[in-house]
Amino acid sequence: MKPALPQMLADALIALSQGDFSYRMPRRMDRGDDDALAFFFNAIAEEIERIVEETRQRERRLDEMAERLSEALIRVAEGDFTVEVPRDGRGDSIDVLIFLVNNTIAELGALVEERAKRAEREQRILNQVIEERTNLFEESIENFRLLFEASPVALVISRWSDGKIVDINKKAAQIFEARRDGKDHWYRDFWVNDGDRARLLDALQNDGELEEFEAQLRRQSGEAFWCSLSARIVHFAGERHVLVGARDISEQKKLEAQLREMATTDPLTGALNRRKIFEIVRENIDRAHRYARPLSIAMLDLDHFKSINDNYGHGFGDIVLRGVVEEVRKNLRSTDYVGRYGGEEVLLVFPETHLDEAKLVTERIRTAIACCQFRAGDVEVSLSLSGGIASLLPNEPLDDLLRRADNALYLAKANGRNRIIVG
Ligand code: GH3
Ligand code: MG
Ligand code: MG
Repeated sequence: MKPALPQMLADALIALSQGDFSYRMPRRMDRGDDDALAFFFNAIAEEIERIVEETRQRERRLDEMAERLSEALIRVAEGDFTVEVPRDGRGDSIDVLIFLVNNTIAELGALVEERAKRAEREQRILNQVIEERTNLFEESIENFRLLFEASPVALVISRWSDGKIVDINKKAAQIFEARRDGKDHWYRDFWVNDGDRARLLDALQNDGELEEFEAQLRRQSGEAFWCSLSARIVHFAGERHVLVGARDISEQKKLEAQLREMATTDPLTGALNRRKIFEIVRENIDRAHRYARPLSIAMLDLDHFKSINDNYGHGFGDIVLRGVVEEVRKNLRSTDYVGRYGGEEVLLVFPETHLDEAKLVTERIRTAIACCQFRAGDVEVSLSLSGGIASLLPNEPLDDLLRRADNALYLAKANGRNRIIVG
């Protein structure tokens, strides 16, 4: 006996509501009304199953692409511009985005290479200037002055005994915004960190010369900037002097810092990305074990976040996510870390922190979020989050600590959400 139609329908709808999209209604194949209904239901269930599978595939693909992008950016930050994010050639927006990223990396590579070549050229010129200096000096001080003046590299000559600047060339006057007569300039005035100056003088004392010494110097206006320095000891009128060649590398430093930031930050929220936050947990666990220090972590997950996306759209969901991370940040101490390790999942790392204190901070965050209103345009929502906390046990490996926090988070969800549970 086949079940009666209402029972069959009820079974089918229960299966669907439990997420079983593979459920099919039994058919009698008698072309009766029941059979036709079962046929239509099965066709709809098949379509839903296909859409769900497509969505999962797309999510998996997005995760995979994000991982590849992150790996590529890290290699770029390490200076490897030959990297190419593999494409799957589907020609959709993700594929086009990766194509653009690859192009940008290649262009950056060309730019950096061009800069390195220019730096090498300048370095060669500087070396040449310094090389030829000794001979020229003997032949004619006048000739030396001409060369010194014409050098495209900033050159500064200072007295070893007291650090008084005795001469600077045109280029140096330009980048340091200094007066040409060198009057009242003292070698140490140009340094941001006295420690760097001491290191340079030590190296000169030991080796007589040095190259590619990177340090922050100061213009007359007080503005600090990065320089690559080459220096050697020279003698004028029998007295020891230091000849320094300086190249402004501020732009290069800025670019390096930007690349480093891109490789470690989640672009949507500004929190650390998944790779970086796990690297930080790993480092802090090692340190905590080595010095027998406390360490706690918390995993947070927003409650019913999917319904915010469903009701107000993904764009609004993104705005809420950004707002949540900002609020979390406000309530963290400066020594704690926040990273986005999943869609709307956040991992907090509390170095040097016992469980009680971590619980206090996490509860503060939970309350702050529950009290917040997140708005964009006319839409305003409130939401809550659930969390699991765990403190590192002696000799406990990373995976066990994460598992305990994750299990606690699961319990917080199962027990009604908007709560923090200790694992
Ligand atoms: P629960 O209380 O059980 O956590 O319910 P939930 O709806 O939050 O469920 P779950 O944590 O499993 O789902 C997370 C949802 O977050 C699903 C996904 O659509 C959404 N999401 C993930 N990443 C992003 C994102 O970057 N932006 C937006 N707007 N939504 C995201
Ligand atoms: Mg989630
Ligand atoms: Mg959630």
